[in-house]
Amino acid sequence: MSGNGKATTAKDNNLTWHDHKVTKEVRAAQKKQKPCVIWFTGLSGSGKSTLANALEAKLVEMGHHTYLLDGDNVRHGLNKDLGFSDTDRIENIRRIGEAAKLFVDAGIIVITAFISPFKSDRQMARNLLGQGEFIEVHVDAPLAVCERRDPKGLYAKARAGQIRQFTGIDSPYEQPESPELRLNTGELDVASCTALLASELSKRGLI
Ligand code: ADP
Repeated sequence: MSGNGKATTAKDNNLTWHDHKVTKEVRAAQKKQKPCVIWFTGLSGSGKSTLANALEAKLVEMGHHTYLLDGDNVRHGLNKDLGFSDTDRIENIRRIGEAAKLFVDAGIIVITAFISPFKSDRQMARNLLGQGEFIEVHVDAPLAVCERRDPKGLYAKARAGQIRQFTGIDSPYEQPESPELRLNTGELDVASCTALLASELSKRGLI
């Protein structure tokens, strides 16, 4: 922000983009992989963190270089100034998208696990990346299943009115219309979901 409260742009601040000798392609080639973002979206308790962890372990075992950006962890650091209002949720996802893009530039396979409830925000993250670099995975379990699991006790708190603006209860979740992959974690177990993820990435030539 400038002194007059208006958002400033890179141009206003006399910023120039520098092209460096070591490019994204060089970094990716050095790691012998195709960098991309595997973007998990879904309700709290749907299984994003569980699957992100399982997938990262599998990719590392295969010799890939990865980084996992996980909801709660990012809110402890980079995004600790943000809450859960619509405006803050949008900024949360914008920063995560930009961070993921930096990791892709570094040649890394990035896995993100955020509810990311708004279609427009997921689209914004997708737009930051190149063609074929953004793999949206809808971790899709019915609300009733997520609520029964309630791994962090958050649904109970939301129902009791102790948490406001909780996705699925009093804040909307906009379903992805055409994600690259949809996993029904209400019916499939973790091992089956991980195998489906690996086969989708392989089919796309990413691993
Ligand atoms: P989120 O990150 O989406 O909030 P978590 O991964 O923290 O969700 O919790 C999901 C819970 O559901 C875990 O307790 C996990 O063991 C369980 N679960 C059952 N089946 C699956 C599945 N197929 N994929 C992921 N998690 C599952």
